[in-house]
Amino acid sequence: MTAGSKPTDLWTAEELFAGPGDALERLRNTDWASTPLGAVEDWPAELRMAIRTLVPSGVPMLLWWGPQLIQILNDAIVPALGDKYPAAIAQPAAECWSEIWDAVGSRVERALSGTTTYAENELLFMRRHGYVEETYWTFSYSPIRDDSGAVAGVFVATGDVTTRVLGERRFEALSRLGNTQIGAAGSPLAETCRAALSALEPSLRDLPAAAIYLDSREADPEGSGWVEVASFGVRAGARLQAEDAMPAEVTSKAESMLISGVASRSPNLLDPARALGNRPIDLVWLTPLTVRGRSAPMGVLAVGLSPYRVFDDGYSNFLSLVAKKVSSLLRDAATLTGEKERADALAALDETKTRFLENISHEFRTPLTLVLGPLHDLSNDPSLTGEQHQEVVTAQRAAVRLQRLVDALMEAARMDGHPGEAVLQPTDPAALTAGCVELFQDAARRAGLVMRTRIDEAASCRTELDPQIWANLVLNLLSNAVKYTPSGSVEVALEVDGDDLVLTVSDTGIGIAADDLERIFDRFQRGDGLSARSREGIGLGLALVREWARLLGGTVSVASELGKGSSFEVSVPRVLSPDGGTEAPADAVPMSVIGPYIGEIDEWQAPPPQADDTPQRDDAPRILVIEDNPDMRAYLHRLLCTQNWTVEAVGDGTSALDRIRSRPPHLVVSDIMIPGPDGVAVLEQIRADPMTARLPVILLTARAGTEAAVGGLQTGADDYITKPFQPDELVARVRVNLEMSWLREQLMVNQEKTSEQLREALESRSTLSKAVGLLMAALRCDADTAFEKLVGFSQHRNVKVRDIAEEIVADYTASLSGGSAHR
Ligand code: ADP
Repeated sequence: MTAGSKPTDLWTAEELFAGPGDALERLRNTDWASTPLGAVEDWPAELRMAIRTLVPSGVPMLLWWGPQLIQILNDAIVPALGDKYPAAIAQPAAECWSEIWDAVGSRVERALSGTTTYAENELLFMRRHGYVEETYWTFSYSPIRDDSGAVAGVFVATGDVTTRVLGERRFEALSRLGNTQIGAAGSPLAETCRAALSALEPSLRDLPAAAIYLDSREADPEGSGWVEVASFGVRAGARLQAEDAMPAEVTSKAESMLISGVASRSPNLLDPARALGNRPIDLVWLTPLTVRGRSAPMGVLAVGLSPYRVFDDGYSNFLSLVAKKVSSLLRDAATLTGEKERADALAALDETKTRFLENISHEFRTPLTLVLGPLHDLSNDPSLTGEQHQEVVTAQRAAVRLQRLVDALMEAARMDGHPGEAVLQPTDPAALTAGCVELFQDAARRAGLVMRTRIDEAASCRTELDPQIWANLVLNLLSNAVKYTPSGSVEVALEVDGDDLVLTVSDTGIGIAADDLERIFDRFQRGDGLSARSREGIGLGLALVREWARLLGGTVSVASELGKGSSFEVSVPRVLSPDGGTEAPADAVPMSVIGPYIGEIDEWQAPPPQADDTPQRDDAPRILVIEDNPDMRAYLHRLLCTQNWTVEAVGDGTSALDRIRSRPPHLVVSDIMIPGPDGVAVLEQIRADPMTARLPVILLTARAGTEAAVGGLQTGADDYITKPFQPDELVARVRVNLEMSWLREQLMVNQEKTSEQLREALESRSTLSKAVGLLMAALRCDADTAFEKLVGFSQHRNVKVRDIAEEIVADYTASLSGGSAHR
């Protein structure tokens, strides 16, 4: 630069570039005289001034001076220069910044023409670390004029903001990923992968290309290999990673890995629309998508790395966070899939169950109608003897009970499918409720219960109500109250509370355990009901009550304390019928509703047969029957009496134990589900008492209760019979067990008799087993059937089982020795 004022005072390089730092030292040692700027001592005052501003500054700065824009810099800018330093000192700017000169050229021009320019976060592809790097800069170019006013240089204040810009945009990408919803439709796992990649797709510069592969076993347990479920940034038809060539390091060891040399293998991998420049992708990063609780990765994330950024800690940490987030999305999706599958399976099961209930209930109804009609006619036949009449009535009651259960099941199934609607009509709720109570009055009295009614006069108004539903509600709660109240009272109250009609049915009965209260309105839920009047029921009544209350627009609730009693409250909106309605209000309990409840009341009233009913015979074996259903009890009683045994019958475990202790019977036949200690508990107590330890016990159980019966056998029951049973079978089993027990007792009381006798007795048992074995072989049947056959022969021929067994064994032995004596 020749134009410029002559220096008035002389500055040496030592003075001008005084200070610490490598850059200043190099500036001091530069041979400036051999540069276009000439010797330092000749530099114009404007240049010196600018240098004195630049040198001590902590802001990265450059100074370009003279027509060739020779570069002077300060220490603060050195880190941003990379490998351009130290060559950058005294280098012409266009040479030092050759790769970005086109990009910044216009700004330089403007500065040289006297205008200051400013750029913020400007992207510049710079080569300072041996490769073309995506960098971001905030900088200003300011002209410096000489004393003639001409622009003699450019002052550059600059900041490398690459780290900040990358940090911000990576944070944004993670936030977008964080807001991703897991896929719910179709295939949640694949949907989730697609959603995750959609959130990442805008991150063009960090993720030019990406793909997610899922272990194909996620979709199909028989599958193998890896399926690409989502990708972006790759040219159509190209793949970031061949699906079947997933490295074992990633899939088995679950480690991340970098694949290099991609550019030479697939130079056209990247979708041109996402290319930042003309450099191809050369590195692909693979990372396993692992989910806690699973040993193998569910998937693999592949990212084609930006060719314009080195894969440094910042880059790899960012991608690791991406992979972690995608993994957690996959975990949630897998959980959702599992839950959805479970929910679908449950829904399907529920649907099947409902259909089954509907079908089976219908199927039951027809034969029941065919049974009930003739039974009704027969019960009115005057030619029947007293005993025959009693049997018909028993059958009739059993059929009605079945009908009640079938009706309840049908109602429950119907409500599942089509909940139906209440048919509102003018109704007098007071009269209707009183009518329902009336039905139970007599039963309650016989059961020794006090029945009270408290009906608010205000309730006796023509109200819009479905009389059928209301009667069902009242009768159901009442029947429960009587059933679950062994002694005390039952009270029914009907009140008007504001706009509501409130029915309360309270009792002083067994109450409900706090744990059961919440689920008592759920289907098939039952308390243990140990001290209930009866253990019959299937746990549908209260579920229906809740549905009925809902159909009337109301609610039902319960308050109860174990041992103290329960109070059920139904509250429904009270809508008064318009005056002048022509229809008479319904106040009678609908006939269609009454039937089943009457049947139930009758059951409670059936007088249990007493031991005293039967003439006592001292020599006959005494059998104790424990059965809570009065009809079944009476039936067992009659059946066993026909064998000339002395039969006593009780309805619960406590009375049974009393009887057994006061006068042990020879055999006990006990239902398992009885009030008080149940059949198995009674058995345990029998076995625990040395007086009764050898008493034979036969358990009776419904088929669904066989597990309990097996438990009973383990506790020491002698036999068990499932209901329904053939009368002959029951009698035969009782007889065999009586005999066995008799034999045992004989052996026990005659202890002093010789071991010979003992062996004989044992032999007779072994004869029995031999006979059973022979029958099994001859008839190709199992041991139970063979034994039944044996018993059958015994009954048929009226010969003891032991004798028949001996005959069979003898026959067989004879046949072996050539004789034949088949009978
Ligand atoms: P179910 O009587 O056939 O068992 P419910 O649905 O009518 O069926 O009743 C469900 C359960 O609620 C009963 O098993 C019983 O444990 C309990 N429960 C119902 N009403 C009463 C009551 N008044 N007192 C005590 N427990 C009751």
